[in-house]
Amino acid sequence: MEYIKKANLSAEGSSLEKRKIVEKILNDIQDRGEEAVGELAKKFDNWEGAFVLSDEKKQRLINSVPQRVKDDIRFAHEQVAGFALAQRESLKEFELESHPGVILGQKVIPMDVAGCYIPGGRFAHACSALMSVATAKAAGVKTVIACSPPRGESIDPAVCYAMDIAGADIILEMGGVQAIASMAYGLFTGKPANIIVGPGNAFVAEAKAILAGSGRCAIDVFAGPTESGVIADKTADPMTVAVDLVSQAEHGYDSPVWLFTDSRDLAEKVLEIMPKVIADLTTPEVAEASWRDYGEIILCENREELCQVNDRYAPEHIQVIAEDLDWWRDNLKSYGSMFLGEGATVAHGDKCSGTNHILPTKKAGYNSGGLNVHKFLKIYTYQKISEEANRVFSAAASRLSRVEGMEGHARACDWRLKKFFPEEKWD
Ligand code: NAD
Repeated sequence: MEYIKKANLSAEGSSLEKRKIVEKILNDIQDRGEEAVGELAKKFDNWEGAFVLSDEKKQRLINSVPQRVKDDIRFAHEQVAGFALAQRESLKEFELESHPGVILGQKVIPMDVAGCYIPGGRFAHACSALMSVATAKAAGVKTVIACSPPRGESIDPAVCYAMDIAGADIILEMGGVQAIASMAYGLFTGKPANIIVGPGNAFVAEAKAILAGSGRCAIDVFAGPTESGVIADKTADPMTVAVDLVSQAEHGYDSPVWLFTDSRDLAEKVLEIMPKVIADLTTPEVAEASWRDYGEIILCENREELCQVNDRYAPEHIQVIAEDLDWWRDNLKSYGSMFLGEGATVAHGDKCSGTNHILPTKKAGYNSGGLNVHKFLKIYTYQKISEEANRVFSAAASRLSRVEGMEGHARACDWRLKKFFPEEKWD
């Protein structure tokens, strides 16, 4: 493998500092509650208004959204909710008789309260509201709290509309660490979230990770600053590759994009085109910096090596613009979501094709996919064992308990053997 372009900054470098800042804010909120949140909202978002969005203000915001925008958000909602409902269908409750008299079962119970963070610093992430809120509702979550930073007088009206049609029960006009902590502790709502989901900047992602680590609530994944990879072979159009890399580099100064290829010719062409494609954006400075500092082009020998490199990076998104798409689908093992062929770009998944765009970053894709309906569901098991089946199962469990040195466990089984079969001899 050879670097045609190498990053000069590591996305990991600044995380430790951010973690310290976030810990300090979380401690403050734990000590002083809503008062601390009020001060932080003033400091970071210049916000002094109420946090819980009233029905009257919500209606006003929704009324201000143009019909075309509403139609597009509705279209996206149908796709996202449809995919989430299909995921819900794929997880079944079941009961089986594993042995005469032994009934084993699985129950699937939705969480009571979900907190959905919808980022709002740089962009109005209306589609992100659909990804989290609609998925929680498809799972059957009773109370969904949706939270996004105010931009000026209110949260963005399109974000508000998306939250509403996706089924948010409570909307908070609040962003950053203070929003994550408020949902975790139930501040302003009285409803602490069982799970907090949604993407955000590094502060937001750290806050979720710290709260999950302390056992306060579950989270979806470490969904921090966006990152994207493109695997392309000699058949790929260099302009498509460059346009797609730039589309993801615009997310933020710290959003890495990577090209993995086995074609030197393609690598050199993309390297040459990138500055021009970036310069053509309406706000080129962000993509310029992220490409300069974090962008990489890696040349590999063959597709097996490309797979290894991809799996090491575990990119949040991986696009494959190459021959034999089925081979790539079957052989790539670590990523957040995969986009196969020139027809599918990350923007489709980000906005409206239907798969979830809340995806693992910073190599979290090694061990987990992105947000899905199952994250909001608790899978429990149960059993019933007949008296007759105790003959076999109590006897075995009693012996196994003693192998493990657990006399109390053994006696619970022995007791049943003696009670159910008093005429027989058990040792
Ligand atoms: P954001 O809503 O995540 O963050 C804005 C908030 O950050 C503000 O409300 C403020 O309270 C807080 N903040 C700002 N500066 C701070 C500081 N110095 N200290 C403490 N808090 C501070 O919005 P954003 O900043 O635009 O970031 C959105 C992020 O979401 C981007 O990085 C984007 O790449 C990412 N994203 C990720 C995915 C994914 O699935 N991984 C999907 C979409 C977006």
